[in-house]
Amino acid sequence: MKRILMLVLFLGLLGLGYTLLQNPNMSASTRIWVGNMVGATESGYGPDQLKVDIVDRVNYQRTLKKYPFVRVDVGLEQWMDSKLEELDTDHLEALTQNIKTQHPRYYRLLACTASSSQLQSLLSEFQDFFQKLDQDTTHMAVHVSRIAAGLGYRALIVTGRKLEDFSPEALSERKTDVFFNTCPHCGYEHACKVGLDQRGINLECSKCLRSYGVLAADEKGTFRYVNEFLTGYHPPAHFPYDSDPLHQMYTIWSAVIRHCAYVKDTSRFNAKRDAWQTALETQTKMRGDCEDSSVFLADWLLARGYQVRVALGHYGDMGGHAWCVAKVGGIDYLLESTEGPPDPAKPPYVADIGNRYVPDTLFDRDAIYVRTNPRDRFNGDYWSTKHWTRIQPRELAEQALAKNSGKKAKPESRTVKAKSTPTIASRTADVDQKQSAKILMNVEVMKGIKEGQMEWQITEVVMPEPPATSAQPATAKALTKK
Ligand SMILES: [Zn+2]
Repeated sequence: MKRILMLVLFLGLLGLGYTLLQNPNMSASTRIWVGNMVGATESGYGPDQLKVDIVDRVNYQRTLKKYPFVRVDVGLEQWMDSKLEELDTDHLEALTQNIKTQHPRYYRLLACTASSSQLQSLLSEFQDFFQKLDQDTTHMAVHVSRIAAGLGYRALIVTGRKLEDFSPEALSERKTDVFFNTCPHCGYEHACKVGLDQRGINLECSKCLRSYGVLAADEKGTFRYVNEFLTGYHPPAHFPYDSDPLHQMYTIWSAVIRHCAYVKDTSRFNAKRDAWQTALETQTKMRGDCEDSSVFLADWLLARGYQVRVALGHYGDMGGHAWCVAKVGGIDYLLESTEGPPDPAKPPYVADIGNRYVPDTLFDRDAIYVRTNPRDRFNGDYWSTKHWTRIQPRELAEQALAKNSGKKAKPESRTVKAKSTPTIASRTADVDQKQSAKILMNVEVMKGIKEGQMEWQITEVVMPEPPATSAQPATAKALTKK
């Protein structure tokens, strides 16, 4: 019984094989596929085998130097296969320029071409070129073509450093300082260099001059978009029954000031080390600088349903500063959290005191708002969509990724000529200095602390327990209206 089954199976396989051979399309594709697998040509050595040998040789030498492996960029290789007839391999400068334009993710490009009558001898022609590849090279693509009416071969090798998309997480890893970015406002694709020791970063497009992401690092050096420092802080607090929105705003503002001793960042003489804190961190440490207390205040007010934004910008000519702006009852209030307790007798109307405060960036929990026309003079408007462009950096990054993955390169028409010795060309993508991140918040605003006339009676705002190591009390006094 077993033997009969085996026989049936054997006959079935035989029949299948015969059918495949009888099908001209199927057998032809099978032959090509087999040829590709073993690299067979008339001499037994084919272009595909040469490609494999080139990649092997490169990576073997990198192993000796303890460099990371380079990977084959299949997309670039396919592009070269489809476009190379139109491109001029005699002018590698022009070729690398073309590749850089069509493949903007490449930061550094190094191209080399060589030709020979023997396919196998091409490998040794590239030996010097392999030595030139530096540690940062990540990808390569090889194109092999026939020249001289089929009597010779030419190989073109393109290597380069292919950039990763920018993300706060990739930046936090600090494996690289150059990233690929697409401006969400104007679509400009570019390399972006970020100083790895910087803590406050403003990604700015050099084409449309608009900011498309503002980031800061916490004390561990982990980066977030600034709006992600607003984490939904909502401490248990008891407000009187009759407290109106303005009353509550003063209470919270006052509690924040009393729970956050203003200190310049510990690294005040080294702006690069400026570390941001979440509201909970500031409340626990009971100290922070202007952006820490602003985040503390805004997060709490947002949790109570206020229309509020944190502003990053400049105070007069004293440099970087952070403050909050809240709209209550149709009126804009500018909440300074680095001064003494608020004085309800002197409401901080933006219209009155706002003229020395010039914001570059605003943010709330969901979004960052950047100046629509950064060169325009600030007119005191913190809210309108005309003056402020709302961006959600995470969503923008995802959209850019989706757009790039579906993108096709545009060809340029060129002719091909033969050449016998290896030629090398290199090209480095331009990194706009403007995109090199700006440092935020490097100068704090120090103003005299003033004690206003107390028209407000003190009630308690209950704060969460600080950690056991802290000797600070768990409750704090705040001001409420009489
Ligand atoms: Zn742009």
